[in-house]
Parts: sequence; C-alpha cells; structure tokens
Amino acid sequence: MTVSIAVEARNAVKAFGQGEAAVRALDDVSVQIRQGEFFTLLGPSGCGKTTLLRLIAGFETPTSGQILLDGKDITADPPNRRPVNTVFQSYALFPHLTVAQNVGFGLQMQGRPRAEVADRAAKMLTLVRLDHLAQRKTSQLSGGQQQRVALARALAPQPKVLLLDEPLSALDLKLRKEMQIELKRLQHETGITFVFVTHDQEEALTMSDRIGVMSAGKILQVGSPRDIYTRPANRFVASFIGETNFLPGFYAHGQVALAGGHVPVAAGTKEGSTVTLAVRPEQVRLVAADAPGSLPATVRDLVYFGTDTHCHMALSDGSEVVARLQSSVSGEAGLEPGARVGLVFTEGAAQVLED
Ligand code: ATP
Repeated sequence: MTVSIAVEARNAVKAFGQGEAAVRALDDVSVQIRQGEFFTLLGPSGCGKTTLLRLIAGFETPTSGQILLDGKDITADPPNRRPVNTVFQSYALFPHLTVAQNVGFGLQMQGRPRAEVADRAAKMLTLVRLDHLAQRKTSQLSGGQQQRVALARALAPQPKVLLLDEPLSALDLKLRKEMQIELKRLQHETGITFVFVTHDQEEALTMSDRIGVMSAGKILQVGSPRDIYTRPANRFVASFIGETNFLPGFYAHGQVALAGGHVPVAAGTKEGSTVTLAVRPEQVRLVAADAPGSLPATVRDLVYFGTDTHCHMALSDGSEVVARLQSSVSGEAGLEPGARVGLVFTEGAAQVLED
C-alpha cells in the first residue's frame, strides 16, 4: 500500500535574529506527515513546535528548506492560498458575533452564497455538538464550548490539513480529557490530516497515530506511540516520554554487563562499548534474592500509588532502579526497606542506548 504524504518539511531551518544573538528555532527539520493521520509534535517548551506549525501555515517563511503540500512546493505561498487552517490555544473568536456567524466567518470572507454558509455552519455545529447554541454570542460560552466553536470554524472551509497549537491547554483536566476524545472523533469522522502540538506526553500517547518528538529545534524520532514508548531512539526520548531507569553498563557478546550480572539484549551495538541500558519501571520484576540470572538489589523505599506501588531499589554499585509493581503483589510479598531481592527485566524490554 502506498502512503500519500499530506505535508512535508524538507531540511527546514528557521533562524530568528542575527549574528551572535541568532536563535535557530528549527535546525534542519525533515518530516513527512501522512494523509489522514493524527500527527503530534511533542516536545518541551521552546523546542520549535509552534515555529514548525507556523511554517506549515505560512505565517513564517523558512530561512532555508521547503514546505510541501500534497507534493507541491508551497514555501512561497501566503497563508490564505494554502488549504490549511489553524486552531490556536487562545481560540481567537469574535465576541460580538453569534456562534453560527463565527463558524461561517471564513466561508463568508471567501464570498460563498449566504445559504451555503448557513448550511455549512449548521453542519459543523452538529459535528461539534453545539447545534443548540447556534444563536448565542461566543462571549456567553464556557471554555469548552468556545473550543468547540473554534474547531467548527477551522473545519468549516474543509481544509486539507488542520493545525492545532496546544488547543486544550487552557481547559481544566476533566474537560481536557473530554476534548481529547472529541478531537479524535472529529479527526476520524472528517478524515482531515491533523497536526497537533503539545508538550504533554500523555496527551500525545493517547491521541496520536504518530508522534514526532522534538528537542532544541530538531525532530529526534518519529513513530507510533507504541514505537516511541517501547523503542526510544535516545536518552532524551526515553526520559521525556514516561519514566525510565537508566543503568550504566558495558556491551559485549549480546549482553550488557552491569552491577552484579548480565542482561541479554538485541545485538546491534558496537562490541566492547560503554552503554546505558534503559528499562521502564513496569518491565522490572522482583524475584528471590540470588535467583539465577537475576541482578542482586536492596529495597530502599516503597511508594504507594493505589493500584501500583513504586519500589525503589539499589544495585550493588549504588545505581537506583525503580519497579512499578501491582500493589496486591507487592503487599503479599511483604517487601520492606532493607529487603534483599533479585531483579529481572521482561525479555526484550531493556533498550541499549549508546553513550
Ligand atoms: P512553547 O511550547 O513554549 O510554545 P515551542 O516548542 O512552540 O514552545 P517555539 O515557539 O517554536 O517553541 O520557539 C522556538 C524557539 O524560537 C524559542 O527559543 C523561541 O524563543 C524562539 N522564537 C520563536 N519565535 C520567535 C520570534 N518571533 N523571534 C525570536 N525568537 C523566536
């Protein structure tokens, strides 16, 4: 099956300012976003997510490199010539207009017939489940309702690509969870390519078909949520998404030697190199002390989280390992600080990161 590419950035560089004071907001970014996917740009504040979105929208031009849409170079096209729309964090609604007028605004500006604008606005309001509020002024709406109006307005001209810049960050947690589901549904029902920006790793994991993880103006890894979580490309990705144990070791003959034992790993690393082993807390199991093939460890602390208990331990060289255990299991095992245990990692779960 051939996958068609909706949006592409090719070697995009964006520098702000001159000389010593110049900031490279984007540093040679290349990424392909597929037709009809929910693609998320994830990274910490200042890593360049918004800048990449603004290049796609046409609000900024790249210092060098290209932006393509459906394979066509649109780098020089102004925003209004691109079949792209943006939903901003601030919504940017017109407070003096009604909900329906807000939603129809873009179409009206394009000079579409009045009946068509009204019909399309009504359809969009049904899509976001706001039919009953069509005649309200937007200043009389809750935050979540305003967000839906902003979405309906952005979807009304049927863009090929919808850009969403942290659209849920102004909402409280409960509403944000509701809107996450709502956004997924909207993307699914419309089939429009969504490019979503967030710094919230959980939001990215739960909503996306694929994620591009960014740091300091670069895209470090692109993959499905499962790929990114289970096969992080490097230490930054492993630590930014989920919790990870990092253990220093030495790779030789398909194994990593670390304090008190060896862990078999997939080959592919240079023979005889120092490495870091990355293991998720839920991939660490506790067995009897001195069990064959286990790493000896001492329990330091147990932190109860309801369903889970986090068991903090030290290996023989003092490096810390956290295991996430089901509370029912750890309760029965009678674990307590000072207990000596053995550690094993779920087969294939330990990732080798080159130093
Ligand atoms: P946030 O999550 O905080 O919005 P972000 O990942 O979206 O961050 P950008 O807004 O793309 O990051 O900014 C990337 C870098 O470029 C930052 O260092 C920022 O200060 C800088 N930058 C962005 N826009 C401009 C501008 N117009 N002039 C100068 N520097 C800018």
